[in-house]
Amino acid sequence: MYIKKIEIKNFRNYHFLKTAFHKNVNLILGNNAQGKTNLLEGIYITSIGRSFRTNKDSDLVHFDEDFAKISISAEKEIYDTSVEIIIKKDSKKSIKKDGVVVKRTSDLLDNIFIVVFSPEDLKIVKDEPEKRRKFIDRELCQMKPSYYESLHNYKKILLQRNAYLKEETIDQRILDLWDMQLVKYGARIIQMRKIFIEKINSISRVIHNSITNEKEQLKITYCPNIPVLDNVNEQENIFYDEIKNAYGNDMKQRTTTRGPHKDDISFIVNEINMRNFGSQGQQRTCALSLKLAELYLIKEETGEDAILLLDDVMSELDIERQEYLIKTLKDNQLFITTTDLDKKLLDAFPEAKILYIENGTIKEKNR
Ligand code: ATP
Ligand code: MG
Repeated sequence: MYIKKIEIKNFRNYHFLKTAFHKNVNLILGNNAQGKTNLLEGIYITSIGRSFRTNKDSDLVHFDEDFAKISISAEKEIYDTSVEIIIKKDSKKSIKKDGVVVKRTSDLLDNIFIVVFSPEDLKIVKDEPEKRRKFIDRELCQMKPSYYESLHNYKKILLQRNAYLKEETIDQRILDLWDMQLVKYGARIIQMRKIFIEKINSISRVIHNSITNEKEQLKITYCPNIPVLDNVNEQENIFYDEIKNAYGNDMKQRTTTRGPHKDDISFIVNEINMRNFGSQGQQRTCALSLKLAELYLIKEETGEDAILLLDDVMSELDIERQEYLIKTLKDNQLFITTTDLDKKLLDAFPEAKILYIENGTIKEKNR
């Protein structure tokens, strides 16, 4: 799959931009604060309907304007697609897929597959569990609209249950209504996370082995807050039991203490937990294996080569890792941002399109 064309209006520091992309490599160059990451963000939003940097849509609209618009057209294995997103500062965003209005965000998903890799992602191994949960959620939402639905409902009910736990008097019957809903969606989330992490684990093991010249064996494991059982029904039952057992704690802390909102994943290399004991280089290599595993998994599940956004990440990797990446990603469309055009990078991609960004405008450059 690849994005053929994009048109942007009033998005971040862009007033207007219209360009075509190369089906393989697009190098996005420019000094700091010119709009390189903003362009990636504009591309990304057409995949899951939201940014990878902010949850606040209004931030995406140019400071001086009321609305922003992004349209792209992409070529896919089976059929081509187009997406148009209009973000208004003071009302809900509107989305069209293939010219048809998308009523629920879940109807946008499972269409354009994009993986972002930024210096922030290089820290995924050592960061807080929340970052790792975000990673799982983002990737699963992209591939499975049913996961998005369950997650959306779970989060909504969790907020309401937490608010209810803060009330002075608690009616057990009302709490039980929240609990049954929470358990229903939570069990689905746990089951889908389990399968996803097992798949990511088996793919990343092979990649990691290859990147490290067989010196390191990576194991990615699910660390669920609720024990994982074999099917959704059993999962609902155990979650229900656990939430009832946690009632005393929940009341003390006035919040929901058990559930998949407390899950984590761990990265074990040669039996050692990388979060606490990995060197910075090892942690980064794990992150790289994870990201590449995501691309393979998308291919396996959807038949599509996902688009990869590499934001400032090349310069953070050593030459060996850079070369591995370049050699592995022959079939994917890449968007690579960088402040200085490294000759090696240019030579690695003789066909690449070079887009030079200056203060929210784009110039196509010859090499
Ligand atoms: P770096 O190399 O430092 O990562 P960059 O080229 O990736 O730089 P961007 O993150 O794309 O830079 O941001 C470019 C500029 O866009 C920033 O100076 C930022 O203040 C500006 N900007 C962000 N949001 C908006 C907005 N809503 N309206 C106008 N300008 C914005
Ligand atoms: Mg940037």
